[in-house]
Amino acid sequence: MNKLEILKKRMALNTSESKLLFLKRTGDEGETYVSKVLSERLEVQPFVLEDFLFEIDGSECQIDFLVMFEYECLLIEVKHYEGDFISGDEYITKVDSKKKYPNPLAQLARATDRLEKLFMRENIRMKIVALVIYTHPCFYLYHARVDSRIVFLSQTRRYVAELNQKPCRIGERHKKIFERLNSLRLETSAYEKKIVYEYEDLKKCITCAKCDGEMERRSTGDRKFIYCNMCGVREKLYDAILRNVAELEYLFPDKELTLTLVLEWVGGCITRKFLTKILLSRYELIKKGRSSYYIKKS
Ligand SMILES: [Zn+2]
Repeated sequence: MNKLEILKKRMALNTSESKLLFLKRTGDEGETYVSKVLSERLEVQPFVLEDFLFEIDGSECQIDFLVMFEYECLLIEVKHYEGDFISGDEYITKVDSKKKYPNPLAQLARATDRLEKLFMRENIRMKIVALVIYTHPCFYLYHARVDSRIVFLSQTRRYVAELNQKPCRIGERHKKIFERLNSLRLETSAYEKKIVYEYEDLKKCITCAKCDGEMERRSTGDRKFIYCNMCGVREKLYDAILRNVAELEYLFPDKELTLTLVLEWVGGCITRKFLTKILLSRYELIKKGRSSYYIKKS
């Protein structure tokens, strides 16, 4: 789950929050592509760590993909930029808007440096090979130098063929390293933790999973369903309620899930009795009189 995605449906985001959300979304498209390539087109089976966020020397570092072969670890940075760009040392510049973006190779150098430090701290001896993959079909980079650290979309097929030649006998040692790295991963970035929101300020309703719309029950027809007033999608009321309760828990992990709170969160679109029934299918009731609350069934 992504906090901003959930919050956007219930409050107005400020400019920096919206920008972050946009970056995250386009980033996700590129990452989905690379994830598919790795899982479907590789004949060998290296360990793959996706979206690896860790801390080193007091600062955070995020790596899109870490792919562990027998002797080396690939650090992959994915860029899903669209349009024509001109390559420069520190920046790549978009031709039409003249907007500058940090040169991914510089980012790559920084990420490699941090990962090397992490490996050193954790006593992991493995070579790191870093590369940038540009995944957007409408991306072009002028003045790009020949650089083995850059893979363009049209080169992925050949690159995958190269990866398939890499030694990939994965054993206990690799498994231990993989598990160790996995245990070091941070769940949410410091930036996400800093996003400020208050329960009182959020819109109370059932939000749509497909768009930013609000869902409503219809007085006619099957009452077991709920419909989005924007995209018209239909969802089982049961699923929609549980999905929205999960978001409530995610946004406010310290709040006790009382029936009154949940009822308010979903905009009072359901009777107490029906809501209780739905909650009891997934949650356990901790009885405390008026302040009884629900916890996830173990
Ligand atoms: Zn919708």
